[in-house]
Amino acid sequence: MLDLNPVFASDGLLSKHIPGYRMRSQQQEMAQAIAETIEKNGLLVAEAGTGTGKTFAYLVPALLAGGKVIISTGTKTLQDQLFNKDIPSVRKALNVPVTVALLKGRANYICHYHLERSLQDNHLTFINRDEIKYLQLIERYAMRSKDGDKSGLSAVPENAMIWHHVTATRENCLGSECPDYKKCFLMEARKNALAADVVVVNHHLFFADVMLRDEGLTELLPACNTVIFDEAHQLPETASLFFGESVSTGQLLDLAQDCQIETIQSAQDCIALPDAIAAMEKAAKDLRLSVEDENVRFALPVIERNKAFKPALNQLIEKLSDLAAILETQAERSEGLENCWRRAHDHIGLIKRWCNSGQDEEGADYVRWVEVYSRVLQLNATPLSIAEIFSRQLNASPRAWIFTSATLSVKQNFDHYLNEMGLGEAQSVCWDSPFNYPEQALLYVPTGLPEPSHRDYIDSVVNAALPVLKASRGRAFVLCTSLRAMQRVHDQLREAFTAENITYPLLLQGDGSRSHMLKRFRELENAILIGSHSFWEGIDVRGEALSLVIIDKLPFAPPDDPVLSARIDKINRDGGNAFMEYQLPHAVISLKQGAGRLIRDETDRGVLMICDPRLTTKSYGRRIWQSLPPMKRTRQLADVEQFFLTENQSAVS
Ligand code: SF4
Repeated sequence: MLDLNPVFASDGLLSKHIPGYRMRSQQQEMAQAIAETIEKNGLLVAEAGTGTGKTFAYLVPALLAGGKVIISTGTKTLQDQLFNKDIPSVRKALNVPVTVALLKGRANYICHYHLERSLQDNHLTFINRDEIKYLQLIERYAMRSKDGDKSGLSAVPENAMIWHHVTATRENCLGSECPDYKKCFLMEARKNALAADVVVVNHHLFFADVMLRDEGLTELLPACNTVIFDEAHQLPETASLFFGESVSTGQLLDLAQDCQIETIQSAQDCIALPDAIAAMEKAAKDLRLSVEDENVRFALPVIERNKAFKPALNQLIEKLSDLAAILETQAERSEGLENCWRRAHDHIGLIKRWCNSGQDEEGADYVRWVEVYSRVLQLNATPLSIAEIFSRQLNASPRAWIFTSATLSVKQNFDHYLNEMGLGEAQSVCWDSPFNYPEQALLYVPTGLPEPSHRDYIDSVVNAALPVLKASRGRAFVLCTSLRAMQRVHDQLREAFTAENITYPLLLQGDGSRSHMLKRFRELENAILIGSHSFWEGIDVRGEALSLVIIDKLPFAPPDDPVLSARIDKINRDGGNAFMEYQLPHAVISLKQGAGRLIRDETDRGVLMICDPRLTTKSYGRRIWQSLPPMKRTRQLADVEQFFLTENQSAVS
């Protein structure tokens, strides 16, 4: 058995090499449990409270164990931090000759083939002057870059449309047929990943490419001895996304555009092609226009009541089939035309499957639903449960699986997570945060608020929040459960601040990128940031700049969401209690994430204000607050004022 004491002890290797390292018994215990799991190819679900040091707790055994390890994170930011900072530090401290590779999704690497096509194509008339300038920058960057990672070219904004034209998707990548295959950045990154001892990926890439075995990555998972998921609370959602199927009118418009380019390049004499492309393009646009609303989701029975939808979908299938038939006759003329034909064919299959069945070949049930954005309509089929699909993958061959996050359990009970992910009898352990929560934090639930369904609820939240924001002198996050509530809170606070001549800066989610807004928040030192889902997780603001977190209401997912409502129906139909077994645990885990923004290290102090009266009036409320870290609790505003006063006085003295 690997003895980790020489690494984690107060005079051990980490303490000698990592500035600011402090020994924490929770961290060492967690590392030991992970080492044992790796040794016996086991399954461990580990909740580690904020400040436990879970990253080092899994990196040390992973780097010492030998064998190939995949580490998957929730975000690209954490992926970069692991690759650039944490892994090099631990590797140096342990002095182990471990090779490490960073692998991102396809959309992050410049594609020589599509870049060349875009440079040659004078049909990209829709791109503006900025985009043309960006295209030239990308061309020069592709010539000098070693890895083709678009994050290395900050002169082109991450969300610029041009990236779409110079990167490849799984559909339009030519793979080994590609004339640029030998110098392809993506293939090079994958080759490095296959050769490395430790590969750092993110959950989207893991499910899209590793688990579903994309071309060029087929050997990665089979060769791997250990898989570690950090931020594992995000996995059920990511897995649902990738174990499902979807096809969007946006993909069909992309196909139409690629068909046009390929026709010009290789099939100008095929007179029927341009008309067939135009007809399919129009049918795709008409399908989107058959639904008037935008940014909404419809369950199948609801969308079927829309009289225009089905005829538009049938028309699309017809026009797509016509196009596929013509492409088939031209496919031999170039790799690009063959790729277009294959995509048209695959899309027809997807749409027909969506129309005809709510089950896959193995009989698993799927929820069919439609999502409508401003320009695009997407047909989705999402598995009702991912448990069976995921557990099949787990059992495919022996290896260790580790799932870790600060938020996986409800009152230290993991049943919900284990059931949802199909993890059966996995060992599950909680390591509490080493922070002194009763001293550092106060949970405040105001009195007198109406039920959240009341039409004046948000206004009451703002009224209750105002004196607290004055007491904290700004320095607050207001986390809302919907964009509408977020906007209302912002407008109401601005009005109240103007009336009372209060000058704390108000920042609203969407005013800039998340990282830019966080930078401003830290610099201002008395700001109030009002946000929705983007700010509930993955945010680390230490120190006094963030001393108050206000949560408008308990984060129950909207029950009219097509996938959620189908899952609720299924659990209730099977004799379960969907509220207690599914909705409540999900809300608790989200709430723990939001609340977790407050105390980030042992010197942080702050107030968590949860406005929702159900925390005290409903029987399940106790289960919710008992799942939070053990802060002192109060319902009195005076206690909150005293808390901040004490902080003030200690700052003065
Ligand atoms: S193999 Fe795919 S990603 Fe690579 S250059 Fe060719 S088309 Fe682009």
